[in-house]
Amino acid sequence: MPAGKLQVVPLGGLGEFGMNCMAFRWGDDIIVVDAGMMFPEAELLGVDIVVPDITYLTENRDKVRAIVLTHGHEDHIGALPWILSELNVPVYGTEFTLAYVENKLEEHELLDAAKLIEIRAGERFKIGPFTIHPIQVTHSLVDCVSLAIHTPLGVVIHTGDFKVDPTPTDNRLFDLHTFAEYGKDGVLALFQDSTNVERPGYTPSERAVRRKFEEVFARAERRLFICCFSSSIHRIKLTIDTAFEYNRKVALVGRSMNESAEIAQDLGYVDIPDGVLIHAGQVKDFPPERVCVLISGSQGEPMSALSRTAVDSHKHVKIERDDTVVLSSRIIPGNEKAIYRMIDHLYRREALVVYEDGSHPPVHVSGHASQEELKLIINLVKPRYFIPIHGEYRQLRRHGELAASMHGAVGKVIMLESGDVLEFDELGARKTGEVAVGRVCIDSGSRTDVVEDLVIRDRRLLSEDGIVLPIITINKLSGKVESVPEIVTRGFAPAGAENGFMDEARQVVVEALEQSSKEEKGDWGVMKEKIRQELKRYIHKNTSRRPLIMPVILEI
Ligand SMILES: [Zn+2]
Ligand SMILES: [Zn+2]
Repeated sequence: MPAGKLQVVPLGGLGEFGMNCMAFRWGDDIIVVDAGMMFPEAELLGVDIVVPDITYLTENRDKVRAIVLTHGHEDHIGALPWILSELNVPVYGTEFTLAYVENKLEEHELLDAAKLIEIRAGERFKIGPFTIHPIQVTHSLVDCVSLAIHTPLGVVIHTGDFKVDPTPTDNRLFDLHTFAEYGKDGVLALFQDSTNVERPGYTPSERAVRRKFEEVFARAERRLFICCFSSSIHRIKLTIDTAFEYNRKVALVGRSMNESAEIAQDLGYVDIPDGVLIHAGQVKDFPPERVCVLISGSQGEPMSALSRTAVDSHKHVKIERDDTVVLSSRIIPGNEKAIYRMIDHLYRREALVVYEDGSHPPVHVSGHASQEELKLIINLVKPRYFIPIHGEYRQLRRHGELAASMHGAVGKVIMLESGDVLEFDELGARKTGEVAVGRVCIDSGSRTDVVEDLVIRDRRLLSEDGIVLPIITINKLSGKVESVPEIVTRGFAPAGAENGFMDEARQVVVEALEQSSKEEKGDWGVMKEKIRQELKRYIHKNTSRRPLIMPVILEI
């Protein structure tokens, strides 16, 4: 065996949900697997996205050779604009993954400078001392791969996200054979997705959702709204296929939904028969029983298409009595309140709402492997070392325990968290140290604005730009605003911002309130986001500053 060390350094995603990013280093060469973001928790008001601290990479910038992507979900590619703007290295990904990446980089005007290299499942490629073999897997997105990374010390396998779906809608099968072959030849280490380790049994196939959709389409007597993640290509395909079968036109509502459907269609994942698609503005021209609206916003995001429709403030579509609304997605922990509030609004509109409530057939199935699938892969791969990845600490721990109980298949389990340095040499593997990791909060400007500079919302900037707290008092019963909004600031006193500035800022808040419907006013989430965006625009335009804006609504 060659003298040398393989270092593996998770920069995010181990011990936290999202922000997946892992560095592999041999001597003077580093490759990075995935560059994900996480959505901010509710406490992080004023922040749009959270990305990993990449100090380790920037300190070793002359050694970083490439970023290799497993698939196109935000928790795997969302930090790319931020990382590439610091460190412009080549990005490897499958055709579909790169299509998402292109859109994302274009938004940030980084596409022209980026070096994107397409990879294909089954076709090996070399980066420095590493030979990388992408292996086709199934997941809730399409064109996803695991990576078998050949290093001078042996092969390590990074699963990316996966489930073992024997009947994927795109008929691209999980390549179990290759996992088995690696297992026969010997695998140094397996890094495996822990997301669903708490679930016993097998995750149902995407095909299970089809039964529910057919039931819903058969019953719906009026307009049908289907809401899923815009990256759920399987669901978009299922919706369009079923709508065609049931003679309904399909309107795509929401920017991300349109972009995603376009990519899926271009790359042949979705086949849309002529005449099926209509523009959102045409929905009203068709009889309600002939329309299906594919809409984004499944997590109750305040400004999303479905949230706005739920409070009747969408410019094109309307939800009316006896319309059916299907939420074909998971309720992500942390978003329950926003989602249930949106569902309440939908019920108030007297719509029939179908959401994941444990009933069968399921309206949503997970994209991640449950226990039996995790065991299957471990059995095939039989790694000397097993390292659980992608999960909060309890999930990593339980995944470690699951693997440790498989004595014949796993040599040793190593628990890692973001920032730990795991080192392999000819004697074995051990944790040898830590590097700086953490979260960087980014305010990318309104997501609907085309381009705005990335602004690092770290402590330093916060202390420079300060905090602005608009305080609005609303009468709980009448929904009326009780008094002129107050604006309290801390550390925000831009030059030239005299009294008139604050008066105008208050006026901006008043206008945002006046222009909102009664239903919107009843929804604090929507109101706070509206006020935040209006004030942000006003303050930035007049002072070029970006203070943290945290609207406070008091009910009396
Ligand atoms: Zn994923
Ligand atoms: Zn993921």
